[in-house]
Amino acid sequence: MIESPLLNSIAGYVAGRWCTTKSSLEVRNPANGNLLANIPDMNQEQTHQAIESASRAMERPIPVDERRRWLTAIDEMLMANKEELARIITLEQGKPLKESRAEVEYAAGFFRFFATQLQHLEPRALPEPIRNLRWTIYHRPAGVVGLITPWNFPLAMLAKKLAPAMATGCAVISKPAELTPLTSIALWYLIEKLNIPPGWLNLVIGRPLPIGDALFKHPAVRLISFTGSTETGRALISNSASQIKRLALELGGNAPYLVMEDADVTHAAEALMPNKFRCAGQTCVCANRILVHRSIERQFTAAVVERVRRLHTGDGLEAQTDIGPLINAKAVEKVSRHVNDAIKGGATSILANPLQTSSKGSFYSPTVLTGVKENSAMFQEETFGPVVPISTFDSSEEAIRMANATPYGLAAYLFTKNSDRADQIAAHLQFGHVGINTGMGPAPEAPFGGVKQSGFGREGGTEGLLEYCEVQTVVR
Ligand code: ADP
Repeated sequence: MIESPLLNSIAGYVAGRWCTTKSSLEVRNPANGNLLANIPDMNQEQTHQAIESASRAMERPIPVDERRRWLTAIDEMLMANKEELARIITLEQGKPLKESRAEVEYAAGFFRFFATQLQHLEPRALPEPIRNLRWTIYHRPAGVVGLITPWNFPLAMLAKKLAPAMATGCAVISKPAELTPLTSIALWYLIEKLNIPPGWLNLVIGRPLPIGDALFKHPAVRLISFTGSTETGRALISNSASQIKRLALELGGNAPYLVMEDADVTHAAEALMPNKFRCAGQTCVCANRILVHRSIERQFTAAVVERVRRLHTGDGLEAQTDIGPLINAKAVEKVSRHVNDAIKGGATSILANPLQTSSKGSFYSPTVLTGVKENSAMFQEETFGPVVPISTFDSSEEAIRMANATPYGLAAYLFTKNSDRADQIAAHLQFGHVGINTGMGPAPEAPFGGVKQSGFGREGGTEGLLEYCEVQTVVR
């Protein structure tokens, strides 16, 4: 069982109180299957209480300076507790400690950034008198918001939503993934020290359906921000119809990684490593289809193989680990299915790095495949695992066509030394985020989100703040 000074109670948090239930769910360490905790399986009634208390809290708005103080304090507390939070993330999620530390820093960055953005909420007067009337545009808090987050970044995905919700003065019901709720509980333990009035920040943990149902049925919840699979996103769109609830959806991706014939091949291979292997390849922005110009494919593949060979797979708590376990056995099954399907379709497995761990966790060895066909399962859906599937193209037009041949549109990457060409190609890529000569994903200061079936709405940047507002126009 997990022991931590940040986990005094393994409980949810409703109306300013820790809250448990008779029924519980297990949280296990994916590196070895050990039981970490039994978490409460909260129900509709408790979710309802959380929403009611959030609604009551919003009747007494919190002044902007106080909200700024909360954001700054959370940033400081995250940084001060980085080591212990990182340990909890690694235990329940599996990623290497160095990545968990980076996740804490990244999450803290959202609170720090949004603390500097509150001036965007000030009312704006239209500069010219229009028909002799005075017009003022207000950014009002959207209302009670539901934040539904996934298991791959248990702290960062929540920070992206919680920080702007707090900045705008929305009361929150947060529902973390049932596989990784302990990080949120630790965060709430820290937040409790701020003496925020009851009802503003609620944490509801348990199975998704009863909680989700309560969030969608209650009229006080005006916005639901969700990060997760496209399949679940589609279900939430249907759920939102009856009350026309606003949604912000960050869904699955299928990122192309284009390496043009004039790219710096060594740099493109080097940049692929953190992009592809962070969180064992379980990120929605990681390269899922590596598309390389035929003339440099051998050189690029060799540079990738050399680097993948050096990766060490193991328990994330061990210092030498580069790649931890996948989240569970189902995830391993999906990656194996994709790899087998690609090989059946004619792909060649160039490297399946042997596992360096004898642990019973859900590990998958880093694998490099070449000659992957466009119709393979791996190119159609997100693999979410440590696999580099390489395919070739012969022209820019073909590269663009292949990159866009997916219903998803979250992130794309492009490597070429010609910056005019990069701009031209980027303009044709139907993705919300494009990295040029970098595998860099999102940052707190920049708006990030998808197009097509990767969802709508933006996180980060000023856009990510305004997502939590309703615009009200007052004319007199
Ligand atoms: P993944 O496939 O990556 O696990 P999901 O989309 O299933 O992603 O889950 C992401 C988050 O959405 C988790 O917190 C999960 O509990 C929650 N979730 C899943 N299904 C529903 C649902 N029908 N209603 C509300 N939340 C849901």
